[in-house]
Amino acid sequence: MQDDTPTPSDFIRAIVADDLASGKHDTIVTRFPPEPNGYLHIGHAKSICLNFGIARENAGARCHLRFDDTNPTKEEVEYVESIKENVRWLGFDWGGHLYFASDYFDQLYQYAEHLIQTGKAYVCDLTGEQIREYRGTLTEPGKESPFRNRGVEENLELFRRMRAGEFSDGSRVLRAKIDMTSGNINMRDPVLYRILHASHHRTGDAWCIYPMYDYTHPISDALEGITHSLCTLEFEDHRPLYDWTLDNLPIACHPRQIEFARLNLSYTVVSKRKLLQLVNEGHVAGWDDPRMPTLSGIRRRGYPPAALRNFCERIGIAKKESVVDVALLEHCVREDLNDNALRVMGVIKPLKVVITNYPEGQNEKLIAQNHPQRPELGSRSIPFGREIFIEQDDFMEDAPKKFFRLTPGQEVRLRYAYFIRCEKVIKDATGTVIELHCSYDPATIGGSAPDGRKVKGTIHWVAAANAVPAEVRLYDRLFTEESPDAGAADFKTFINPESLTVLTDCLVEPSLAKAAPESCFQFERQGYFCVDSKDSRPERLVFNRTVTLRDSWVKEQNR
Ligand code: ATP
Ligand code: MG
Repeated sequence: MQDDTPTPSDFIRAIVADDLASGKHDTIVTRFPPEPNGYLHIGHAKSICLNFGIARENAGARCHLRFDDTNPTKEEVEYVESIKENVRWLGFDWGGHLYFASDYFDQLYQYAEHLIQTGKAYVCDLTGEQIREYRGTLTEPGKESPFRNRGVEENLELFRRMRAGEFSDGSRVLRAKIDMTSGNINMRDPVLYRILHASHHRTGDAWCIYPMYDYTHPISDALEGITHSLCTLEFEDHRPLYDWTLDNLPIACHPRQIEFARLNLSYTVVSKRKLLQLVNEGHVAGWDDPRMPTLSGIRRRGYPPAALRNFCERIGIAKKESVVDVALLEHCVREDLNDNALRVMGVIKPLKVVITNYPEGQNEKLIAQNHPQRPELGSRSIPFGREIFIEQDDFMEDAPKKFFRLTPGQEVRLRYAYFIRCEKVIKDATGTVIELHCSYDPATIGGSAPDGRKVKGTIHWVAAANAVPAEVRLYDRLFTEESPDAGAADFKTFINPESLTVLTDCLVEPSLAKAAPESCFQFERQGYFCVDSKDSRPERLVFNRTVTLRDSWVKEQNR
């Protein structure tokens, strides 16, 4: 995919440009390093667009997709596959540069022995709890482990026996020997390896010791020749350890770690752990529930990948934490769909209309524009007949003056068809309107009257004889609170009980009968809807409302 929009500028891209200009690097290599312990979310999209974006913008540059799979207990193959699919869907490609941190387990082990041999690492027999106690706090220095001064030979022997499986989980760890009084807690002899008798999704039972993230990450970066290791701000305090690791190993490559602010989005949680809770506790139907901020959910909801890329470009990359208004994301989606989605007619809450002066048995084919602002997208024919359905909301019996839609005695235009006038309202025993009898003016074909009389409203409709039944799922924000996970309260108490409304008696125009899964349409006057990729069937279409035509939360946004 070639992008000819001007390169967005931010401090990381500026560093990259400087490093190319100064000759520090002639090839830029970045990486996107997800841990396969959950599905990617909108926050990851920011990181993907940054890392793969920089690779795309610089000649000869590349971006690696590397799975940070050092924790065998939380990782699953399902996640690896979904992550690959999500990255491709967003429009990026790792071009054969697919890596797994677990591929480096041998090398990582060798380097650990090197640290032991150079007196930079030791085997510690303290329990996890003791290690935490000894570590000290932000205000108090740590205490040295009684095992800190073990000799090289003893350390080597113990570490080899750890690897050989002689010890139980948690009984020993390998630690870096740095500085227990460091002001940075990450430097107080961090754990490098722990014992875990667990099968790994790639290495099986080959290992019963597993390297920690902070040790694995810099080495993986260096082994792959990464030039700029871009990560979120929470890793800023880990940078000294990143550098220490590479400074103390015989590796020539030393990537530069640069931190940027993570994406936080209003009315949304972006944390795999919390999203997992929503899935496991049944608050949503799964990782790809269209209300989820996961890339799989967003895709199923109908957000175009280009809208996401555009969103990431607009929010930019900064060093300061902030919360982005989810309305901006929705705006980007609307903007894309407004340009690209074909217009169709669908009636979500149908009300039957009989056009009493329309000849029985007559059927017409009318012409409708696929996209009134883009004539090149053509037109289609839509059937019209004596019985049609309109939207319940487009009729009001005792209407206020400003109601320009259908009300007894007032003419409205049927989109792409005729003027009709309501002559009679049919109600059931409870007084509910169940049917309207209208008259039409055959001279108004095409939507205007030869005598020049005007109507103030135009409404959408579908022909009863040809309409296709559909289920429509209306989504609203998953949380009612702007920052659901900021306070002390459990974020799940802010779940919006009305985040999903299912309407099962909808009717759409027949051209949609063959619509492909994931294709997105504007239902005129209603919003943007896409064919659900999982549940839609030709005999029973299911549409997800991607986004409304306008922002219905405007009031809340105070705009
Ligand atoms: P979470 O906090 O949701 O558990 P994570 O950081 O543990 O996410 P990883 O799989 O480790 O998830 O993340 C892969 C990459 O994506 C990392 O480089 C991380 O910095 C980046 N990333 C994760 N969340 C965000 C976010 N909200 N905004 C920007 N980048 C993010
Ligand atoms: Mg992480």
